[in-house]
Amino acid sequence: MRLFLEAKHDAGGKTRSGLGGFGRATLSLALLLPIATAPLSAEKSEFYDDNDSYWARFLPSVNPALDKDLSVDVAVVGGGYTGLSTAYHIKKTNPRKTVAIFEAKRVGNGASGRNGGLVLAQSYTEGGMTMGKNGAHHREIYDATVKSMKRLKELAESTGIDPEFTLNGQCLGIFSAGNLEAGREYAEAARKRGMPIEFWDRDKARSMLGSPGLLGAVYDPNGGSVNSGKLVAALKELAEDAGVVIYENSPVEGWEANETVTLSILAGGKEFEVSAKSVVIAANAYAAATLGFLAKDIVPAHTQVAVTAPLTDAQYKAIGWKDCLSWYDDQYAGTDQDATFHMMMTKDHRILIGGGSVQYNEDDGLLYPGDLKAIESQIRKRIGELYPALRNIRIERTWDGIICETKSKNERIGVTGKYRNVYYAVGYNGGQGVNMSFLAGELVSKLYNGEKHFMLGLFN
Ligand SMILES: Cc1cc2nc3c(=O)[nH]c(=O)nc-3n(C[C@H](O)[C@H](O)[C@H](O)COP(=O)(O)OP(=O)(O)OC[C@H]3O[C@@H](n4cnc5c(N)ncnc54)[C@H](O)[C@@H]3O)c2cc1C
Repeated sequence: MRLFLEAKHDAGGKTRSGLGGFGRATLSLALLLPIATAPLSAEKSEFYDDNDSYWARFLPSVNPALDKDLSVDVAVVGGGYTGLSTAYHIKKTNPRKTVAIFEAKRVGNGASGRNGGLVLAQSYTEGGMTMGKNGAHHREIYDATVKSMKRLKELAESTGIDPEFTLNGQCLGIFSAGNLEAGREYAEAARKRGMPIEFWDRDKARSMLGSPGLLGAVYDPNGGSVNSGKLVAALKELAEDAGVVIYENSPVEGWEANETVTLSILAGGKEFEVSAKSVVIAANAYAAATLGFLAKDIVPAHTQVAVTAPLTDAQYKAIGWKDCLSWYDDQYAGTDQDATFHMMMTKDHRILIGGGSVQYNEDDGLLYPGDLKAIESQIRKRIGELYPALRNIRIERTWDGIICETKSKNERIGVTGKYRNVYYAVGYNGGQGVNMSFLAGELVSKLYNGEKHFMLGLFN
């Protein structure tokens, strides 16, 4: 789903001209950048705000910070889905190697513990319900991402933690007449490629999603939703069970990549040094600001989510939203307000709704300078439009998070550096990151193990 990238201005009044002007040339430039050596700076703690989302209550307990110098085979920077998945996959396939994660705050403090909970097939690059720039690989990417989401569910549930996966599909709800033909054409083209995508007419869309203004929908039976905080907990458990050591409250404040990679970590007011044979940059939207990595390509962008109080049985019946099917809309996409809203329903029938306008904060660091009350009003208005019976529903919490957009409009998964020991997986843009970050971790482990995968050639 192209949730955010086309957005051109923000709700907080700060405008930018959109990302349309940046293309392949920028990508080539970014690939030539030298590996960064970020100096130590006390100010860096200001990069990380606390995760104040609804999901935070489901995050696992926090591990101790680093308290000594260390030498490891693989140091993973960042404890979101990407870092946890990469560390898990590398350790699982290389049990004798020492693998450690260094997380600035707590695992799931970034987007992984704050997102909208939608689990989606496809990649950002492929555009979700459109044919993207890797069109020839559209079906292959779809198959790989569907396989990966099923594997993620199975592995996460094997820990005994139930991350509340509902993989009953996902929908693009169409409100703009101009998009109906495109939706129909996409479903047809996808079916020709053997993908199980359906186009729903007005009646079917309304009967499944309940929203009275719908003109149609594109339905993908693969996808769904998850409790993002519990998913972090399950991935942490998996990684630790495999033998990964996780240090929290351990921000990497400086690093230098030579034959060995040296990381400077400030923990408990003291500075420690970690030397690693390889490093994995799994810091996503934070990577440019906190590590100086891919700084010419990464654009951190703020986006928000809100959660309602649980719907009463009467409200739930009144809105006619079936099977807690997760979906997103096109109502304001391409308009002045350029905004897509995405929705899931939790097991206890709360609506988690996010999207709206996006704020680009290229010059202002990573902390959110906007007005969450204004965002909340925007979201409240949208809920009332989608489901008039919920016009007065209580919104319990609204929060902010950062997604990692790239000027190259590419996911960035690869290895770099003179000694080919700096691995990275960042830049899922606004879309499929929940599913894609887990797959990206597996792809990085394949790179590390010298294996091939067709997606590695596409996403770098
Ligand atoms: C509000 C919001 C809603 C979203 N909704 C959806 C959705 O519904 N569906 C979907 O598929 N995707 C969604 N996404 C995107 C998805 O959540 C992300 O793509 C995915 O979680 C990225 O995971 P990650 O591990 O790469 O990054 P993150 O989860 O951001 O993890 C990066 C981690 O690195 C740490 N870190 C950074 N710098 C350092 C350093 N120097 N030293 C140590 N640690 C460091 C950070 O503290 C952070 O914990 C959403 C994102 C946001 C923000």
